[in-house]
Amino acid sequence: MKNLILFFAFLFTTTLYAHVGDHTPDRGIVYTINGKEVEGHFLMSRDDKVFIELQNGKVISAPLNDFSFRNRESLSEKIAALKKLNREKNKVKESSSINRLSAVLSLFFFTLFLFLIKKIENIGFAKLMFICTSIGGFLYACKTTEAVVTPNPNTQTTIAKTDPAFIEAVYSPFKSNVKTRYDNTYFYIESNGLPTHNMMVGITSWQQQVPIPQDYTGTNSWSIPLNPELATTPLSLKTNFMKGAVAIAPNGIPIFNPLNNRGEDAFIIGELDKWGGHCGRADDYHYHIAPLHFEATAGNNPIAMALDGFPIYGSKEPDGSATLPLDEYNGHDYKGSYHYHATTKYPYFMGAMRGKVTLDPATPAPENQIIPQAKTSAIRPAGDPLKGASITDFKTTGTNAYSLEYTLNNQKGYVNYSWDNAGNFTYTFIGTDGKSTTSKYTRK
Ligand SMILES: [Zn+2]
Ligand SMILES: [Zn+2]
Repeated sequence: MKNLILFFAFLFTTTLYAHVGDHTPDRGIVYTINGKEVEGHFLMSRDDKVFIELQNGKVISAPLNDFSFRNRESLSEKIAALKKLNREKNKVKESSSINRLSAVLSLFFFTLFLFLIKKIENIGFAKLMFICTSIGGFLYACKTTEAVVTPNPNTQTTIAKTDPAFIEAVYSPFKSNVKTRYDNTYFYIESNGLPTHNMMVGITSWQQQVPIPQDYTGTNSWSIPLNPELATTPLSLKTNFMKGAVAIAPNGIPIFNPLNNRGEDAFIIGELDKWGGHCGRADDYHYHIAPLHFEATAGNNPIAMALDGFPIYGSKEPDGSATLPLDEYNGHDYKGSYHYHATTKYPYFMGAMRGKVTLDPATPAPENQIIPQAKTSAIRPAGDPLKGASITDFKTTGTNAYSLEYTLNNQKGYVNYSWDNAGNFTYTFIGTDGKSTTSKYTRK
C-alpha cells in the first residue's frame, strides 16, 4: 500500500515538469495570396507582414489579409506560437520563478501524501524527514535543469539589426573614393568601380578586358541589408550566385563567386591579378577571392560585407584574437550574430549564404544573382581570351588614362586607353607585332 501511494505521488510531481511539446516546422504548405497559389514555408511575421520562403529559397512577403481565410487561420496560430516562443526566450528568469512556485506546490502536496502515509502506516518522524528532503532535492534539481535550458540557435530567425555605424567603419578607410548612406532596410555603398591599388598585373589567363569606371551611385549603389536573418537552407556558392556580386570590399569594389559556371576556380586558373581581381565583360573590375590585403587598413574591422548582411572578417576575430573554429559555411555564430572569415584557400570567404537573400527571378541557378544588385554597363563588345598572354605591367599615364602591358611569346603588347568626363573612351591596341589600332566608344 505504501509503495503504491509513493509511486502515484512520484508520477504526480514529475508530470508537473514535463516539457511543452516542441514546435514542428511546416513543410511545403500551399498558400493562396490574393488568389495566387505558392508553395513554401512560413518564416516569420513582422509589421503585420507574413514572410514565406518558397521552395526555391526565395522569400516573399505579404500582409496577412492577402492570404486566404484558411491560410489566415493557420498563420495566426503560427504567429501566436512564434510570439509565445520569443516571450519564453526572453523570460527564462520569469519561467524559472514559475518553476519554483510549482516546485513548492509539489512539495506541499507530497508532504500531504506522506502525512497520510504516516497516519496509515505510522512511519517514524526521522524517516519521513529523510523522504521529504530527498524529494525536495529532486525537485530543486529539476528546477535548476529547467532554468539553464537555452534556446537552440538554429530556431533563431532574427538577428539584431546591424548598427549602420558598424558598416560605416568598414568603408571609412576609403572615404575619399567611397560614399555611404543608409535607410531602414539597406546600407548603400557608392563607388566608381576603380580601386586605389594597382590592378591587372599577374593575370595569366586574360580575356582582353581592362578596367574602366562604373557608375555605382544613386539607385545603382551596392546595398547591404541592415536586418540580416539566418536562412533556413543556406544556398551554396558552388551551385548558386555565378552571376553578380556576393560581397562588397571596403573600397566599394564588388566581390564575385570564386567559381565560374564551369566550376573552375578563377584564382587557380590564373584569371586573377595580385589583388584577387580582374575585369568582366563590361570592363568592370571586381574580385573573385577574399581581398585579404585589406587587413592592413581594416584593423580589427571586417574586410568586406556580404550581400546577406553578415560581415566577412580576415584572419582574426573582432577582438584581435585568433580565428575560432569555422563551420561548413566558413563562418560562425559570434556574440549573438553571425560572421564569415576570409581564408587563403577555397571557399576564400563564405561557402554558402548563411543569411537570407532575395534572388532575381529572371536568373535561374547556378547563374542566379542576389538583388538588389548594382549594374555594370559595357561600352564595347566583350573581348576574347588571348591565349598564352600574361599581364606584366599596368600604369596610370595621365588623368583618366591607363596603359596595360602584356607579354606573349616574349614579345610585348599594349592596350593604351583613356576617357573624358562626357563618357568618350579611346582604346589603342598595340599587338606583339607592333601593329596599332584605335577604337572609340561612347557610354550611353
Ligand atoms: Zn570575374
Ligand atoms: Zn569569427
